[in-house]
Amino acid sequence: MSLEVFEQIESEVRGYVRNFPVVFDRAEGVYLYAVDETPYLDFFSGASVLNYGHNHPELRQPLLDYIAAGRITHSLDMASRAKEMFLREFKARILEPRGLPHKVQFPGPTGTNSVEAALKLARKVKGREKIMSFTNAFHGMTLGSLSVTGNAFKRSGAGLPLTHSDSMPFCHYFGDDFDTIEYIDRLLADQGSGVDLPAAAIVETVQAEGGINVADFDWLRRLEALCRQHDMLLILDDIQMGCGRTGKFFSFEDAGINPDIICLSKSISGYGLPLALTLVKPEYDIWEPGEHNGTFRGHNLAFVTATKALQLFWCDDQLSQEVDRKGRLINDHLQGLARRYPELKADVRGRGMMQGIAFANADMAGTVSKRAFQHQLIVETSGPEGEVLKLMPPLTIDEADLSKGLAIVDQALAEAVAVHGGDSMPVRAIFD
Ligand SMILES: *Cc1c(COP(=O)(O)O)cnc(C)c1O
Repeated sequence: MSLEVFEQIESEVRGYVRNFPVVFDRAEGVYLYAVDETPYLDFFSGASVLNYGHNHPELRQPLLDYIAAGRITHSLDMASRAKEMFLREFKARILEPRGLPHKVQFPGPTGTNSVEAALKLARKVKGREKIMSFTNAFHGMTLGSLSVTGNAFKRSGAGLPLTHSDSMPFCHYFGDDFDTIEYIDRLLADQGSGVDLPAAAIVETVQAEGGINVADFDWLRRLEALCRQHDMLLILDDIQMGCGRTGKFFSFEDAGINPDIICLSKSISGYGLPLALTLVKPEYDIWEPGEHNGTFRGHNLAFVTATKALQLFWCDDQLSQEVDRKGRLINDHLQGLARRYPELKADVRGRGMMQGIAFANADMAGTVSKRAFQHQLIVETSGPEGEVLKLMPPLTIDEADLSKGLAIVDQALAEAVAVHGGDSMPVRAIFD
């Protein structure tokens, strides 16, 4: 199984293939299969694009039927039957039951497209340039999104100054005893602070890429109140945590907040097809027709699977309950591991089925991920130093596969500990 073609032809920028160096060909449910049919259990879910697993048969069939019937594939942002069905379903099953009055904007098909649209619109609404972002935030790779992203390595790729944003401390950034909302409030209120009033704050409820930093519900409520008080919009980036990853459809529902603009992408098509939404309160939907556009805004094939996914998974709270239950199971398991190896000073964090374990020795997480892959489990790392092992299996995983994956994590961690104990010996030297 050679990676020669990728090494010779594909750009050096390729990333995940380096961590998971096999050629994949087939996928079904929670398994990916390499060309030689070796199965790999998926605890990564395409970074939460595959919340309902790979190639769900009840999503695939309507897609195949749609294509076979010669129905429209690409239509820019013209009206199509597939879009009509999606909009009706999204309003009836997601927006209305939650009392969300938001209009649906289709930006380009990726998460960063949704964020760019949100930032542009917030600036237009408030007539101000600055956006408030947070430490360890991740919002995408285009320049606007990158300017509100924390990671220094990612930011350095911009090649120009990233401006018109101010990074503020996220919940618990300075530990449990420091009130970061009070700090921000003071800076915004004080005419001598040197901080310009932003048009909006953009926030994630759980910073997945940033190391699974979980915002307290009370912190989110106080952030919302702060935005109201200072006449700023609240943009909630639910691209990775939305679509059930934390239990409810939106990750902010449990906090009881009502963001002005909501960014969705990743699992919204339900099938791994590119689709993104920017949800906007009607009073802020002040775009001129075509003022923000793009060729691939709302793709019909993605609408077909997205509509079906809403019907399959969001008619009742069964999936949400399952996520709560399995999330607790994963958390309990990781807590057990942290207790078994106190010398690792591991910290377990997460909400719902976004759970992780952070290691004092940052290299530990990468070693566990590498070892797990040798045992046919795909599991990623996150955090500014890659210090967090991030477990995010498909929400639909059954308990047998979940246990199997957790057992591999145990095995991989035991091997990683054996390799370099609790000390800080650089692991890369061993594996590269
Ligand atoms: C993945 C992600 C994005 C960017 O989405 P892309 O499709 O990669 O552009 C933005 N915000 C969050 C929270 C994400 O997880």
